[in-house]
Amino acid sequence: MTKPKVTVVGSINMDLTVSTPVIPKQGETVLGDRFATYPGGKGANQAVAASRLGADVRLIGAVGEDAFGDELARHLESEGIGLSGLTKLPEISTGTATIILCEQDNRIIVAPGANAEVTPEYVESMRALIKDSDILLVQLEIPMETIRKVAELAEEYQIPLVVNPAPYHDLPKEVLEIATFLTPNESEAVLLNEALDADFQDKCVTTKGALGVEVTLNGEKVIVPGYRVPVEDTTGAGDTFNGALVTRIALGYSLEEAVQFANAAAALSITKEGAQSGMPTKKEVEMLIE
Ligand code: ADP
Repeated sequence: MTKPKVTVVGSINMDLTVSTPVIPKQGETVLGDRFATYPGGKGANQAVAASRLGADVRLIGAVGEDAFGDELARHLESEGIGLSGLTKLPEISTGTATIILCEQDNRIIVAPGANAEVTPEYVESMRALIKDSDILLVQLEIPMETIRKVAELAEEYQIPLVVNPAPYHDLPKEVLEIATFLTPNESEAVLLNEALDADFQDKCVTTKGALGVEVTLNGEKVIVPGYRVPVEDTTGAGDTFNGALVTRIALGYSLEEAVQFANAAAALSITKEGAQSGMPTKKEVEMLIE
């Protein structure tokens, strides 16, 4: 079977996590516990998920000319992701997410860095790569103008486009019209539905955590129930879902089959620690489904 060509246009971050018994108050310094770095960013996460699940993935994005950028590029390459769409930019830092882990009260600061430089002009310079894709996948950690540009190219070349509206921002009407599917989670779906005409609601493939996935099949809203699995770490569940969904759609599976596969892949991802490190392979997903 030839691999489907999945092109992800999105963010690449280094996640910097530190766990601490207490969150520092204003002006205070506290002694924390473990510090660790993990490759992240929704674009990169979804690219890794798709690659492990059998897609020929190309990631259009940017990092800085710094140590994190070098490390992330090497990491993406080791995951089998094509880097012809990746640029290392001088004088700007690689995107980071600084994550304070404190019991249930996590706090996160995202510094977009090079991700903010993934502009419409940059995407235009990658036109050939986009044209040569079976499906396109975007999230909202890069500028909205860039999302609009990707949608325009998707329409021009008649390539299916999946838009994961995370983190939530209102989408231009044009993007809503062109998108083949929108993949909000439950809280994003609430905001999206407020902004959405009834015409677009059938495009929503809504993930609902342990409940599973809500999708419209033959004009009817149905729930594909979630798998019962032991929960280790739910970070990256949505990213795994998106990477899996586009891979299966690009392979020609029906929406129902693609959602079932993605639902299983996302369930497996939460049985292991880490966003990317917990992402399953195609074989593991097939074993769960059978
Ligand atoms: P996000 O991580 O983006 O907030 P969700 O929490 O909706 O997204 O999770 C995405 C998908 O991951 C769900 O639709 C489901 O397939 C799977 N999933 C998430 N949490 C669980 C869980 N506790 N049990 C089984 N599957 C889960």
